[in-house]
Amino acid sequence: MLNPGDLKDFTLITPTADVRTDTHGGRAKCLQRLVRLDIPIPRTVAISFGAVHKIAEGARPDTPRLLSAFGRTPLVSVRPSSADPDWGGPGAVLNIGMNNERYAELCKTIGREAASAQYVKFIQAYAIEVARLDPEPFEEAAEDDDPVRAALAAFEIEMDEPFPQDPAEQMQEVLRSMARAWEGVSARLLRQARGAPVDAGLGLVVQDMAPGLGTGESGSGVIRMIDKVTGDRQITGRYKRKGRSGRKRQEMFLAADPRGASMEEEAPELFAQLTRILDTCRTNLREEMEIKFTVSHGELRVLDAVKVVRSARADVKVAVALAEDGIISPEQALLRVEPMSLTELLHTQVDPEAKRDVILKGIAASPGGATGRLVFSSRAAQTSASHELPCILVRRETTPEDIRGMHAAQGIITERGGMTSHAAVIARGLGLPCIVGASRMRISRREKTVTTADGRVFHEGDIVTVDGTTGEALAGAVPMLEPALDRPFRTLMRWADEVRDIGIRANADTPDDARMAETFEADGIGLCRTEHMFFEPARLTVMREMIFADSEVDRQAALDRLLPMQREDFVELFRIMAGQPVCIRLFDPPLHEFLPSDREGLMALAESLDLPLSDVTRRVDALSEFNPMLGMRGVRLGVTMPEIYDMQVRAIFEATVEASRQAGAAVVPEVMIPLVSAKREVELVKARIDSVAASVRVETGQGFDYRLGVMVETPRAALRAGEIAGYAAFLSFGTNDLTQMTYGLSRDDAGRFMGTYVSNGVFHEDPFHSLDRDGVGELLLIGAERGRETRRDVVLSVCGEHGGDPDTIGFCRDAGFDYVSCSPFRVPVARLAAAHLALQPPGVPDSED
Ligand code: PEP
Ligand code: MG
Repeated sequence: MLNPGDLKDFTLITPTADVRTDTHGGRAKCLQRLVRLDIPIPRTVAISFGAVHKIAEGARPDTPRLLSAFGRTPLVSVRPSSADPDWGGPGAVLNIGMNNERYAELCKTIGREAASAQYVKFIQAYAIEVARLDPEPFEEAAEDDDPVRAALAAFEIEMDEPFPQDPAEQMQEVLRSMARAWEGVSARLLRQARGAPVDAGLGLVVQDMAPGLGTGESGSGVIRMIDKVTGDRQITGRYKRKGRSGRKRQEMFLAADPRGASMEEEAPELFAQLTRILDTCRTNLREEMEIKFTVSHGELRVLDAVKVVRSARADVKVAVALAEDGIISPEQALLRVEPMSLTELLHTQVDPEAKRDVILKGIAASPGGATGRLVFSSRAAQTSASHELPCILVRRETTPEDIRGMHAAQGIITERGGMTSHAAVIARGLGLPCIVGASRMRISRREKTVTTADGRVFHEGDIVTVDGTTGEALAGAVPMLEPALDRPFRTLMRWADEVRDIGIRANADTPDDARMAETFEADGIGLCRTEHMFFEPARLTVMREMIFADSEVDRQAALDRLLPMQREDFVELFRIMAGQPVCIRLFDPPLHEFLPSDREGLMALAESLDLPLSDVTRRVDALSEFNPMLGMRGVRLGVTMPEIYDMQVRAIFEATVEASRQAGAAVVPEVMIPLVSAKREVELVKARIDSVAASVRVETGQGFDYRLGVMVETPRAALRAGEIAGYAAFLSFGTNDLTQMTYGLSRDDAGRFMGTYVSNGVFHEDPFHSLDRDGVGELLLIGAERGRETRRDVVLSVCGEHGGDPDTIGFCRDAGFDYVSCSPFRVPVARLAAAHLALQPPGVPDSED
């Protein structure tokens, strides 16, 4: 038998062996930790990254020597061990060492059936994974009356040579194929996409097979201490007990369960030993682990322990519980949750306490809960939505033609399909709760009914609830919980807020958005696009009257009608945000966006304005521009048609007075001017805003302050930020328009060629998704620097779509920006991303190992 030091390139895993994650991989290191904790691990040898790399390049390892570590007749497995398990790797190969001689021996000890199953599985794995043969002949061989003979024959036919009988030769080929698989182009691209460095290494662990066979208590299984979906503490997994006296294997529960036999009841000592091991792992490895084990003659062996793969919700719960139990620090808990994964938690959920009348079950394809009327076609879903009636779309399966109906529905149920079917994929993208594969229901499209497994019939229009988290549909409406702001989530967010050093505001245009911003605990509103308030039907008509006004008097009359509506909006925003800053951007889009473009719409408009159609058409034509996004919009409207901004700032200031009175504390609104490119624009608009403020102060007899800011979204504004900052307390970079104008790339049309540009490497990524650090980023830095030169305390922020992107948040934080502003659903992601940046600036590795 070899000593640890005898294995050149190979390291026998002992408590003191030199095994490290960065040289042998995470699996090898974890096995060593288990050994140190006195957990019974079969004999294991680790092969280093360097050795595996040499094997991939053609070196022939000394496999006889390697196998000598496992006794005279070795039977071993080989598993991959990369630095991070998420990077993937070749599949494990088990039972290396099986050959005719070993098979004959095993037939005597464990019986012909078990021995033959083991040998055939090995031949199959070797043929497919190592010799890269087609699986079919081996699948057929496994069905043969004499599967070993058939599998050996299939191998010989395909390879023109007999199945290798020498364990050292088998091992040689297994190592070579696993090493080469890691170096292959597709494996490399896949792991790099998951964040692996270019030179990520692969280690391998060779382990004595510890089959769960023998007389007495024998079997194999996996066990974990949490529910993978909810993160709740609960023993989950399975145990396959070897059948007694020739009976088939018996699958049993681990913890006692009314549904059937369990290990806890039938082998309590074993169960207690396993739960003790899990506890030890949790405390010492500081992680919830899943343990793969075998039992032979009552003796337990732990083959492997890996972090439990789990949902984002479970991830948050586990991280917070570990920190609350003092096993890891709150900072480590924060770093363990991937910011983007939080999006999964942010949906409305069926209240777990609610009474549930389950009418059908299927696959839980997209989380969240929704209640609505049953509809059976995409068209019916759209009709329902147009009457503002929430609906649940039920289909046999969905196709691309159903997209509009899916958009219109609140939830989706399909009879067919799985986790990656059309309905499932689209619903997850839309954030809609969805159940697929509800195969026990019967749909009649003609009758417009669903008949459930228990014979109940539901008709179109009946109210049901979809619980996409559990995969169940319920009769009627049930209470819902707001997006999973449960205790662990809130705790994690609180810890994030304690460490982050950049503000996170929300882009919120309506009171509903503001409530969402408040729910997600944004540090205020960073961008309220006021034009969105005018799209409600009642307001749109007045807006159109204002646009069509012939005289200033008529225009003013229309604006006077819009004023109280705007004022109410702002009072509501200030009230909801309760003292948090609210940044209101003055009107930005070109006016034609409020006008119809088709004949039907023009006729309706003519009718509502009581004007001849020709008049309306002429006026609409007169407003049309060749390039409206670079035309009469933003501050240009403010300068040429100042009455609109006058009305808006009056509404803001009157609301300020009202909200301050209601709250008993001063509200200080932020007013932002869009699309500025010249200092003089700001000067002109500021003069009018100051004058409206003065009038409102006099009229109401109440003083108030406001802060004026400029949206930097043209390249010239960034370059001239020095002089602009003379008039602005804050500069907010609108990176959507700034990207558009820096590249000369239309926000609305770039999709046509973006794919080609990214795949040809012209753009590293779509610059509308991920901030272009080199070009647009440089303008941000120039603008920030020049702005600060004029006004040292000028507040700097980003409010374009990039504001919720973790990489952009890092850029802004490095540049000393005060906050970013993003859509409300992105706020938690941004808060956590900001905490990660504060705890672990990019490039500094996690020191937990
Ligand atoms: C921007 O241009 O970045 C911005 C936030 O404004 P909008 O998207 O409304 O043009
Ligand atoms: Mg803009």
